[in-house]
Amino acid sequence: MANVLVFAEVRGGELRKVAFEAVTAARQLAELAGGGSVHALLAGAAGIADKAEALAQYGADRILVLEHEGFAQYNPEALAATLAQRLGSGTYGYAVFSATAQGRDLSPRVAAKVGAGLAPDLTSFTVDGGAVYGQHFHMNGKTIATLALRGAPAVLSVRPAAFQPTVNAKPLVTEAITSAADPSASRVKVVALKQGNTGTIDLNDAPVIVAGGRGLKAPEHFKLCEDLADAFGNAAVGATRAVTDEGWRPHADQIGQTGRNVSPDLYIAVGISGAIQHLAGMRTSKTIVAINKDKDAPIFKIADYGIVGDVFEVMPALTAAVRQAKAHG
Ligand SMILES: Cc1cc2nc3c(=O)[nH]c(=O)nc-3n(C[C@H](O)[C@H](O)[C@H](O)COP(=O)(O)OP(=O)(O)OC[C@H]3O[C@@H](n4cnc5c(N)ncnc54)[C@H](O)[C@@H]3O)c2cc1C
Repeated sequence: MANVLVFAEVRGGELRKVAFEAVTAARQLAELAGGGSVHALLAGAAGIADKAEALAQYGADRILVLEHEGFAQYNPEALAATLAQRLGSGTYGYAVFSATAQGRDLSPRVAAKVGAGLAPDLTSFTVDGGAVYGQHFHMNGKTIATLALRGAPAVLSVRPAAFQPTVNAKPLVTEAITSAADPSASRVKVVALKQGNTGTIDLNDAPVIVAGGRGLKAPEHFKLCEDLADAFGNAAVGATRAVTDEGWRPHADQIGQTGRNVSPDLYIAVGISGAIQHLAGMRTSKTIVAINKDKDAPIFKIADYGIVGDVFEVMPALTAAVRQAKAHG
């Protein structure tokens, strides 16, 4: 039996969907490891404690609440010190992070501080004899490596959208904790947050992504992707590197090896060839739809549904069909 410490990611004072995914993964890990407790660390400015209930809903047995103005923005130094202090206390067998920008920054800091092994960006895992065996995409997703984490504590991060948030309500138990390092004295300070991707939904939180490539021919034609995203109502717009390099879309919208890793329920690739570097960031999407006028485009090899056609004809028709389907419930 081993307890699990999980970092619940907050942005702009709100818990992100990845926080519920991480708690779900932590719950799963605790059960696989013989039924330990899940403790979620929730950090933020005054009032963040109000968000604790949501974490209990997803299976956190205890929510460690760290309230301080110094945590109004992401504070890597003080968070790493606090998480490492907890993890090194002997109470926990594992720590779970989301493999997001914050989690990728924080998890190695914590692992290094406690001398723990780190398995990053896992899409699934099992536990055998206390060791975690986690699946991690290698070589742009061409191979899947199984990473073995032996010894306690062990640190792992989970790929956004790889674990479906699952309600598993626990009674609300909170514990107010203090930071292990002065949060106002951190050498690293986040002074401002700029909205990255152009839509209102973050690419990692969106259940539907409409991604455009060079086949759209010009930046203004991304309106076709925006209209389809708008018709779905819960979609974000992404792009290939060819597009972001051209300056048609911001770099934060780029999906792929050198961009964002996404796994939405539905990924619609619009005028995208399907280069290996692009596939590396989206091949774990649950359902992939590709629209391309070249029937031999590599994207069709991984697509669940393919439409061979001109995006300028297919997209307006698809958008109208989605709007109509939504209107009829
Ligand atoms: C080190 C490295 C890292 C990289 N990292 C990334 C990354 O993170 N993400 C990424 O995306 N790329 C990355 N790339 C670039 C990658 O190799 C490809 O060049 C890029 O993904 C191609 O983008 P694209 O599909 O938009 O363009 P193209 O390859 O030019 O494909 C355009 C597609 O649109 C189709 N098309 C054209 N007109 C129409 C039309 N009217 N209707 C329908 N279809 C049409 C064409 O048939 C074609 O298949 C990286 C490359 C390197 C070397």
